[in-house]
Amino acid sequence: MSYSELQNAVSLEALQVTEAPTLLNAPPNDEVFDDNPCLSCGACCAHFRVSFYSGEIAGPTGGTVPAELVTQVAPLRACMQGTEQGGRCIALRGNVGQDGIQCSIYSQRPSPCRDFPVWYPDGSPNPDCQRLRHAHGLAVLEHRQVRPIPQLPDCDRAA
Ligand code: SF4
Ligand code: SF4
Repeated sequence: MSYSELQNAVSLEALQVTEAPTLLNAPPNDEVFDDNPCLSCGACCAHFRVSFYSGEIAGPTGGTVPAELVTQVAPLRACMQGTEQGGRCIALRGNVGQDGIQCSIYSQRPSPCRDFPVWYPDGSPNPDCQRLRHAHGLAVLEHRQVRPIPQLPDCDRAA
Protein backbone atom coordinates (compact mmCIF):
# COMPACT_ATOMS: atom_id res chain seq x y z
CA MET A 1 0.00 0.00 0.00
CA SER A 2 1.36 3.40 -0.92
CA TYR A 3 1.70 6.22 1.55
CA SER A 4 -1.12 8.17 -0.08
CA GLU A 5 -3.40 5.14 0.04
CA LEU A 6 -2.62 4.79 3.73
CA GLN A 7 -3.46 8.42 4.31
CA ASN A 8 -6.86 7.94 2.76
CA ALA A 9 -7.54 4.56 4.21
CA VAL A 10 -8.30 4.69 7.83
CA SER A 11 -10.18 5.94 10.76
CA LEU A 12 -10.25 3.98 14.01
CA GLU A 13 -13.95 3.30 13.55
CA ALA A 14 -13.31 1.73 10.17
CA LEU A 15 -10.76 -0.73 11.48
CA GLN A 16 -12.02 -4.23 12.08
CA VAL A 17 -11.61 -5.82 15.46
CA THR A 18 -9.61 -8.94 14.82
CA GLU A 19 -8.44 -11.96 16.73
CA ALA A 20 -5.00 -12.48 18.05
CA PRO A 21 -2.56 -13.18 15.23
CA THR A 22 -2.87 -9.60 14.11
CA LEU A 23 -2.61 -8.35 17.61
CA LEU A 24 -0.55 -5.87 19.11
CA ASN A 25 2.03 -5.22 21.32
CA ALA A 26 4.35 -2.78 22.83
CA PRO A 27 7.04 -3.58 21.97
CA PRO A 28 6.69 -6.68 19.85
CA ASN A 29 8.83 -9.72 19.19
CA ASP A 30 11.43 -8.94 21.86
CA GLU A 31 13.32 -7.34 19.01
CA VAL A 32 15.60 -4.44 19.81
CA PHE A 33 15.32 -1.39 17.58
CA ASP A 34 17.59 1.62 17.65
CA ASP A 35 14.50 3.77 17.86
CA ASN A 36 11.58 1.62 18.97
CA PRO A 37 8.33 3.20 17.71
CA CYS A 38 6.24 1.21 20.21
CA LEU A 39 7.62 3.22 23.12
CA SER A 40 5.58 6.21 22.07
CA CYS A 41 2.64 4.41 20.46
CA GLY A 42 0.66 1.59 22.10
CA ALA A 43 -2.12 1.86 19.51
CA CYS A 44 -2.40 -1.88 19.00
CA CYS A 45 -2.77 -2.45 22.77
CA ALA A 46 -5.82 -0.21 22.69
CA HIS A 47 -7.53 -1.67 19.66
CA PHE A 48 -7.41 -5.41 19.05
CA ARG A 49 -9.10 -8.25 20.86
CA VAL A 50 -6.18 -9.96 22.63
CA SER A 51 -7.19 -13.58 22.97
CA PHE A 52 -5.06 -16.64 23.54
CA TYR A 53 -4.98 -20.24 24.78
CA SER A 54 -5.94 -20.29 28.44
CA GLY A 55 -2.85 -22.37 29.22
CA GLU A 56 -0.95 -19.10 28.99
CA ILE A 57 -2.59 -17.92 32.21
CA ALA A 58 -0.26 -18.12 35.21
CA GLY A 59 -0.81 -21.32 37.16
CA PRO A 60 -0.23 -25.06 36.98
CA THR A 61 0.14 -25.04 33.18
CA GLY A 62 3.24 -22.89 33.48
CA GLY A 63 1.65 -19.83 31.91
CA THR A 64 2.65 -16.29 32.76
CA VAL A 65 -0.31 -13.97 32.22
CA PRO A 66 -1.75 -12.79 35.57
CA ALA A 67 -5.16 -14.43 36.04
CA GLU A 68 -6.71 -11.30 37.56
CA LEU A 69 -6.16 -9.42 34.27
CA VAL A 70 -7.85 -12.02 32.11
CA THR A 71 -11.40 -12.86 31.06
CA GLN A 72 -12.20 -16.48 30.27
CA VAL A 73 -14.14 -16.31 27.01
CA ALA A 74 -14.41 -20.04 26.23
CA PRO A 75 -13.31 -23.24 27.95
CA LEU A 76 -9.83 -22.99 26.44
CA ARG A 77 -9.70 -19.34 25.41
CA ALA A 78 -8.85 -16.30 27.48
CA CYS A 79 -8.75 -12.63 26.65
CA MET A 80 -6.98 -9.63 28.17
CA GLN A 81 -9.56 -7.65 30.12
CA GLY A 82 -10.73 -4.58 28.27
CA THR A 83 -10.11 -6.11 24.86
CA GLU A 84 -13.06 -8.54 24.75
CA GLN A 85 -14.78 -6.48 22.06
CA GLY A 86 -11.60 -4.72 20.98
CA GLY A 87 -10.44 -1.89 23.18
CA ARG A 88 -7.84 -0.80 25.66
CA CYS A 89 -6.02 -3.58 27.48
CA ILE A 90 -6.12 -3.42 31.25
CA ALA A 91 -2.34 -3.83 31.39
CA LEU A 92 -1.59 -0.76 29.27
CA ARG A 93 -0.18 2.22 31.18
CA GLY A 94 0.08 5.73 29.81
CA ASN A 95 -1.48 7.64 26.95
CA VAL A 96 -1.63 6.20 23.45
CA GLY A 97 0.71 8.03 21.13
CA GLN A 98 2.76 9.60 23.89
CA ASP A 99 6.20 8.86 25.32
CA GLY A 100 6.22 6.59 28.33
CA ILE A 101 3.37 4.34 27.32
CA GLN A 102 4.11 0.79 28.40
CA CYS A 103 2.85 -2.71 29.10
CA SER A 104 2.72 -3.30 32.85
CA ILE A 105 3.13 -7.06 32.36
CA TYR A 106 5.67 -6.93 29.55
CA SER A 107 7.66 -10.03 30.56
CA GLN A 108 4.42 -11.93 31.25
CA ARG A 109 2.39 -10.80 28.24
CA PRO A 110 0.53 -13.39 26.12
CA SER A 111 1.69 -14.79 22.80
CA PRO A 112 -0.34 -12.49 20.49
CA CYS A 113 1.47 -9.54 21.99
CA ARG A 114 4.83 -11.20 21.47
CA ASP A 115 4.05 -12.18 17.92
CA PHE A 116 2.75 -8.92 16.46
CA PRO A 117 5.56 -7.42 14.39
CA VAL A 118 6.29 -3.80 13.66
CA TRP A 119 8.36 -4.86 10.68
CA TYR A 120 8.41 -8.11 8.74
CA PRO A 121 11.71 -9.97 8.22
CA ASP A 122 12.19 -8.32 4.82
CA GLY A 123 12.06 -4.92 6.49
CA SER A 124 8.58 -3.94 5.32
CA PRO A 125 6.29 -2.41 7.95
CA ASN A 126 3.30 -4.40 9.19
CA PRO A 127 0.28 -2.78 7.49
CA ASP A 128 -2.01 -3.36 10.51
CA CYS A 129 0.46 -1.51 12.68
CA GLN A 130 0.69 1.24 10.06
CA ARG A 131 -3.07 1.68 9.86
CA LEU A 132 -3.40 1.99 13.62
CA ARG A 133 -0.56 4.48 13.84
CA HIS A 134 -2.09 6.55 11.09
CA ALA A 135 -5.50 6.48 12.77
CA HIS A 136 -3.89 7.90 15.89
CA GLY A 137 -2.09 10.61 13.96
CA LEU A 138 1.31 8.96 14.36
CA ALA A 139 3.98 8.89 11.68
CA VAL A 140 3.84 6.08 9.16
CA LEU A 141 6.94 3.90 9.47
CA GLU A 142 9.50 3.59 6.72
CA HIS A 143 10.85 0.36 5.27
CA ARG A 144 13.65 -0.81 7.55
CA GLN A 145 17.12 -1.80 6.41
CA VAL A 146 17.61 -5.53 7.05
CA ARG A 147 20.96 -6.47 8.54
CA PRO A 148 22.82 -9.16 6.55
CA ILE A 149 23.14 -12.62 8.12
CA PRO A 150 26.79 -13.31 9.08
CA GLN A 151 28.52 -16.06 7.07
CA LEU A 152 29.95 -19.09 8.88
CA PRO A 153 33.73 -19.45 8.49
CA ASP A 154 34.95 -22.17 6.11
CA CYS A 155 36.68 -24.09 8.95
CA ASP A 156 33.23 -25.13 10.28
CA ARG A 157 32.59 -27.24 7.20
CA ALA A 158 33.12 -30.99 7.37
CA ALA A 159 36.44 -32.22 5.93
S1 SF4 B 1 0.76 -0.17 16.61
FE1 SF4 B 1 2.78 -0.79 15.87
S2 SF4 B 1 4.22 0.78 16.59
FE2 SF4 B 1 2.33 0.97 17.76
S3 SF4 B 1 2.72 -0.22 19.64
FE3 SF4 B 1 1.67 -1.55 18.15
S4 SF4 B 1 3.32 -2.63 17.06
FE4 SF4 B 1 4.25 -0.85 18.11
S1 SF4 C 1 -0.72 -7.41 27.64
FE1 SF4 C 1 0.68 -5.69 27.34
S2 SF4 C 1 1.44 -5.93 25.22
FE2 SF4 C 1 -0.43 -7.18 25.44
S3 SF4 C 1 -2.13 -5.85 24.79
FE3 SF4 C 1 -1.94 -5.64 27.00
S4 SF4 C 1 -0.61 -3.84 27.28
FE4 SF4 C 1 -0.34 -4.54 25.17
